Amino acid sequence: MINRIYRFLKGRYGIDELYRFMFYIYFILVVIDFFIDFYPLTIITFILLIIIIYRSLSKNISKRQKENQLYLNIKNKIKNNFYDVKKKYNYRKTKIYKKCPKCKKTLRLDLPSKRGINHVTCPNCKKKITMLVLRKQKVEVITNKKKKK
Ligand SMILES: [Zn+2]
Repeated sequence: MINRIYRFLKGRYGIDELYRFMFYIYFILVVIDFFIDFYPLTIITFILLIIIIYRSLSKNISKRQKENQLYLNIKNKIKNNFYDVKKKYNYRKTKIYKKCPKCKKTLRLDLPSKRGINHVTCPNCKKKITMLVLRKQKVEVITNKKKKK
């Protein structure tokens, strides 16, 4: 019997991060489904379970890895965006974030410096940017470091 199970599972894809994520969603849906009588949700939950099982038992490993990679990329993007927002919030009193009008890179401007009109140069494309500083802040342009992949 164990041998038969082993033979069945051999060469199958198994578990990855996407599997865990989908299982987590599945679990949430099951709980919601338990409390809410909404027929389409029951179907969606069931289809999700089928996909989870199908993926883990799939023999097309490269395709499943690609799906997993796609999921990880999206997840990282969301995570990075979240960190950016958090960072901007933490530095809201000492730094200014501004997008370069030419190269669209986000520039972090260090504070504090003189109030009024300031001229800064984008370190990336050397474009001169004029900016109005209302609070006392030092305007020094620093390009954001490239995000880790
Ligand atoms: Zn620029």
